[in-house]
Formats: sequence, structure tokens, C-alpha cells
Amino acid sequence: MPHYRDEGIVLRTHKLGEVDRIVTVLTKNHGQIRAVAKGIRKTSSRFGARLEPFMVADLQLYEGRNLDTVSQAEQLANYGSNIVADYAKYTSATAILEAAERLTRESSSSQHYLLVLGAIRTLANFDERSDQVLDSYLLRALSISGWVPALDFCHSCGEAATLFSTHSGAVSCSACKLPGAVNVGQSGLLHMRALMAGDWDGVAEASESTRAQVSGVITAYLQWQLERGMKSLQHVERV
Ligand SMILES: [Zn+2]
Repeated sequence: MPHYRDEGIVLRTHKLGEVDRIVTVLTKNHGQIRAVAKGIRKTSSRFGARLEPFMVADLQLYEGRNLDTVSQAEQLANYGSNIVADYAKYTSATAILEAAERLTRESSSSQHYLLVLGAIRTLANFDERSDQVLDSYLLRALSISGWVPALDFCHSCGEAATLFSTHSGAVSCSACKLPGAVNVGQSGLLHMRALMAGDWDGVAEASESTRAQVSGVITAYLQWQLERGMKSLQHVERV
């Protein structure tokens, strides 16, 4: 398969030499790829601004020994301009791309691609609270990556639960406490279920303190799984 074509969202870019750039792209069917865009930093580049973070493009590539090369890029959607115009959207969108880059390094799926695309599109086009779009993405992305949170009943005795384990993603009652457990209460678990479902009306019903506590718990759960911190999460504007 020396040549291939796929659609993808640009996660990050790095300069390479004088005029080239390496782009990291989450594709629909080929997982996460890194490819060289030759001459992209020349003003006359045929790629224009089509290979910047948040851009969705139809790409033609050919395989190389170490890195693939982008031969053509057609823009499918540009969510970047709406996102960079709003600081809260920008910080959440940046954290989504960084989390996606980490979570899809080893393996990905078209489901994960569509999840990232949906989150970035929601940030760009709608006025949902951007930190809640981020939290919803993170919970669902962790779930797709194999760390499915179990949010219903105590993992051990089946009674009503109020504690969420940031280590295992399971919930428990106070008698069957798990390592890394944080008491988020019934309201916290209700909020997490709304985030998992992308139920924005349900998400909006949570109190400010519940949202803040659940955000902290989701970040801790993600960081436990990734083992080391993601720097962009510290900059998310939570209003
Ligand atoms: Zn229990």
C-alpha cells in the first residue's frame, strides 16, 4: 500500500528543516499517522493553511520507510478560526487534541476519530460550555480506549454508590471503598452519566461545585491511566 487516501484531523505540527513540517494526524481509517508536508512553510505552498491543528482534510499520502509524505490535502472543514477566537474554546480544544494524540498513539479506531471530530465541531459551532465538552470527550475517549467507567452501582455489594475510583473507574459505597476513590455523591455520578451520554441538558443541570469536582476526578482518572500529566489540562479555562 505505497499510496493511500484518508480523511483526518490535524492534531499537531512540528517544523522540519527550513520549509517542511511534520504533521500528526488522526485519520478515520489508518489511526494516528505522522507525515511530512514538503515545502509547506513556503508562501507559495500548495497546502496553504490546510494542515494546521483543528483542520479536517481529505489527504493523499504515500508511505515512506520512517515517515509518510502528504502529496495532496483538500480541506473538508476549518474549525480553527472559530476556536482560536475564543480563549475558553481554544484551551479546551487544545487539551482534546493533546489527549487524542496520547490516547491514539498505540491504536485508534474510526469511532475515536468521529468522537474527536464531534467534540471539535461542537466547540467551534455551538455555545455548550467548552470545559464540559472537554470532560465529555475525555470520559468517552477513555472508555473507547478500554478504561470504561462503571457508573451505576457499588462494584462489590451492588448498593447505591457515591465514590468514584480514579484508578479503576468503578464506583463504590463508602463501606466497599476502592483505591483512589473520591466521594462525588449521587449528583456527581449523575453528572458523569450525562457527560458520557453527551446529554447537554443533563450536563447543564449540575451545580457549579459538582462540575468542578467531576472535572478534577476525570482529570485524575485520565492522568492515572496515562501515568504522567498532560500540560494543556492545567491551562483549561473553567468559568
Ligand atoms: Zn458496597
